[in-house]
Amino acid sequence: MLLGKIGDPLRQVEMARPPPGPGQILIRVLACAVCRTDLHVVDGELTRPKLPLIPGHEIVGTVVELGKDVRRFKIGHRVGIPWLGWTCGQCTYCRNGQENLCDFAKFTGYTLDGGYADYTVADQRYCFPIPEIYSDTEAAPLLCAGLIGYRSLIKAGNGKRLGLYGFGAAAHIVAQIAKYQQREVYAFTRPGDTEAQRFALNLGTVWAGSSNELPPVKLDAAIIFAPAGELIPQALKAVGKGGIVVCAGIHMSDIPTFPYSILWEERSVCSVANLTRRDGEEFMALAPKVPVRTEVVTFHLEQANEALNSLRSGEIRGAAVLVTQDCTGTS
Ligand SMILES: [Zn+2]
Ligand SMILES: [Zn+2]
Repeated sequence: MLLGKIGDPLRQVEMARPPPGPGQILIRVLACAVCRTDLHVVDGELTRPKLPLIPGHEIVGTVVELGKDVRRFKIGHRVGIPWLGWTCGQCTYCRNGQENLCDFAKFTGYTLDGGYADYTVADQRYCFPIPEIYSDTEAAPLLCAGLIGYRSLIKAGNGKRLGLYGFGAAAHIVAQIAKYQQREVYAFTRPGDTEAQRFALNLGTVWAGSSNELPPVKLDAAIIFAPAGELIPQALKAVGKGGIVVCAGIHMSDIPTFPYSILWEERSVCSVANLTRRDGEEFMALAPKVPVRTEVVTFHLEQANEALNSLRSGEIRGAAVLVTQDCTGTS
């Protein structure tokens, strides 16, 4: 499913299988989750896409062909391909263990072709083995919603009371990890979205309400997954002294001005960008221990536009996942 031009719907096209280059693997895609970032790409809010582009960066598939010098994987292995597709290994960030900030990084489904397809190629060094307890569809949202959620949770620190703004794919995973770590989770949804609030409570959050409400207690940290800048002052009001507000999305609408008093007392605001391979390894080891279970709504690959629209309108509980035609979605 190909994005030809910003603002156009994706088109179903037939293309030759990409040959795996040195260090790359060719993957038969089994499932690919749909991320909010994909909406930002097709809508042109992220301004540097490769065009035409195959979107999708939460890919689960089977290795079907090995490029030259591939040692990490064998044909038949099930692997996951995340957003971070390549880094230079040379820049200051790469050398300081911050490859997520690499000046020359390439991103799956943005500057590299991604997983809204039957086949894709990936650099073996950035792929992860998928824990066996997960089916293909269940595993797909772990590759971004899970990974970026995990990185955001680390950034939020060890405080006991955690707020999550926007209870979609990432929050529903983070809530399970935070509960496993014996924290209290407070879920904030679009005002009046009682169904999403019920979904959050069923996942073990101690409170669920609308994003324009304040929680019953001061929070230690809040993570904002929704791309709405007005949530930053709202979350700052919800955290106590020394609290942190982590913005987990790649794009957000402008932040309204706010009084300094809500930032005062050592509150802070920061963002989380991309992921490192280390995040991926840590998260893939932790997820089956919790165990993180993902709630998914599946669509056929050809229904990618419908899946994107459902995500946009907030209809999806958990994560939307595309499956390829002849795949049942279970491993
Ligand atoms: Zn670099
Ligand atoms: Zn993503």
